[in-house]
Amino acid sequence: MKKIFGKSVFGGIAIGDISFLKKDEAQVKRLHVDDTETEMKRFEDAKATAAEQLKGLYDKALAEVGEANAAIFEVHQMMLEDLDFIESITNMITTQEVNAEYAVAVTGENFSQMFASMDDDYMKERAADVKDISERIIRILTGAGGNEVDTDKPVILVADDLAPSETVQLDKSKILAFVTRHGSSNSHTAILARTMNIPAIIGVDFPEDCNGKKAVVDGFEGSLYIDPDTDTLTVMEKRRQEELEKREMLQKLKGQENVTKSGQKINLYANIGGVSDVVNVLQNDAGGIGLFRSEFLYLEKDEYPTEDEQFQVYKSVAETMAGKKVIIRTLDIGADKQIGYFNLAHEDNPAMGYRAIRICLDRIDIFKTQLRALFRASAFGNISIMFPMIISVDEVRQIKEIVNEVKAELDEAGVPYKEDLELGIMIETPAAVMISDELAKEVDFFSVGTNDLTQYTLAIDRQNPQLDKIYDSHHPAILRMLQMIVDNAHKAGAWAGICGELGADLTLTETFLKMGFDELSVSPSMILPLRQKVRECE
Ligand code: PEP
Ligand code: MG
Repeated sequence: MKKIFGKSVFGGIAIGDISFLKKDEAQVKRLHVDDTETEMKRFEDAKATAAEQLKGLYDKALAEVGEANAAIFEVHQMMLEDLDFIESITNMITTQEVNAEYAVAVTGENFSQMFASMDDDYMKERAADVKDISERIIRILTGAGGNEVDTDKPVILVADDLAPSETVQLDKSKILAFVTRHGSSNSHTAILARTMNIPAIIGVDFPEDCNGKKAVVDGFEGSLYIDPDTDTLTVMEKRRQEELEKREMLQKLKGQENVTKSGQKINLYANIGGVSDVVNVLQNDAGGIGLFRSEFLYLEKDEYPTEDEQFQVYKSVAETMAGKKVIIRTLDIGADKQIGYFNLAHEDNPAMGYRAIRICLDRIDIFKTQLRALFRASAFGNISIMFPMIISVDEVRQIKEIVNEVKAELDEAGVPYKEDLELGIMIETPAAVMISDELAKEVDFFSVGTNDLTQYTLAIDRQNPQLDKIYDSHHPAILRMLQMIVDNAHKAGAWAGICGELGADLTLTETFLKMGFDELSVSPSMILPLRQKVRECE
């Protein structure tokens, strides 16, 4: 047995086999195709190859493991011919003019979700089969040798590093834990691991020959056991069970209020990166969405998402949240979130460079496209919009002018939107804190981005693992700023929340309540622990 220490990013115990992340394999992107007939032919050919492969697998399994066990490949062959499945793919290719692999991926995902939600256990199991089939077709279409996670059963995913765009595209159902050699605990990849509710450790110097080996991840301690001995396995399995029981206990808090013993209430909302996280938000009974990092929509793609594509996503989130608040942050790229097609110039210091609102106020076409999509979607739910990386009142006024132009255009076109849509800003620069009295007069709410606020206040790059030790969001400078922000918000009649990672720090919950924060927005998995903590506070 070998035990290697790293740093915890998200707690939890995972036991399983290690799988190295295969990089440079085809990841499915949505592409526009002009020639839908050729695309249909590609799909038909891939389907035929898949059928051949499955027949081969059936024959092999029949010879080696008998008819009962081989039957699964027969089921797969039947599913491959399922008319609804084929119709959905055909429809997407011909009407949406998208590439075959994208149509297969989306259809596969939709169908497997549909099966997974059925009551019948047999049908539930078919969800995995649909996924398997669509992945087979995608592998054939892309010529990829295997999945990004090259296995059928869930694994402990080990990689040198993971970019946010890679993490967001991984099939979460196949990952028991993340282990990376690089990365820092405040990076967006770490944040995604927390959002996905998956144990994760970073800074682990794993040996190159551990692929396929049995391992245990202790996400609490930040350690990885390779080839664990029987004693370790027994202890860890027990802890894993205890963890599951604890989670079940937290489930009892669903439907309960976020209220302290003395009656102070606070809103607990969730942070998300995309539509697929909404299930988690609802499962954990969040009161709303306090931060939708909309840039992931852009990161997942090869070209600018269109107004309609964005509209569909925002509308779907707003509708699914059924009247609960959904705060969508406008595009926040730059720094660690780089997107090729934006063609951003190389910068020596990107964290302090051309990013977030600076790009939006410069490339107004991109900004307006997003705002139009947001306003249109606001007719379908309770959407609010917030803007990242603000440093001046002037920026907010510019934003409001553009917002008014967008509204006027929609009015003219007779397109409905939410009249009283709330506008807010993120407070994540010391400049914004110092003028928060003035800024508060301009907006409906503040949401404090403590990740960046800590970075800029302490002059510590949040991406630099070497500085993780001194990246201290509890620094008195930050705590004083937080008090100043709430006070200034309230004086101007605005509300204030925290959506940075610090919001989930249970050792500060009481402090945040005393400071007077109205809202905390955290990873979905932290909603119930936080509710429990709030209810224990005086
Ligand atoms: C923050 O900076 O705290 C924040 C919530 O934004 P992001 O982590 O996406 O930069
Ligand atoms: Mg930020």
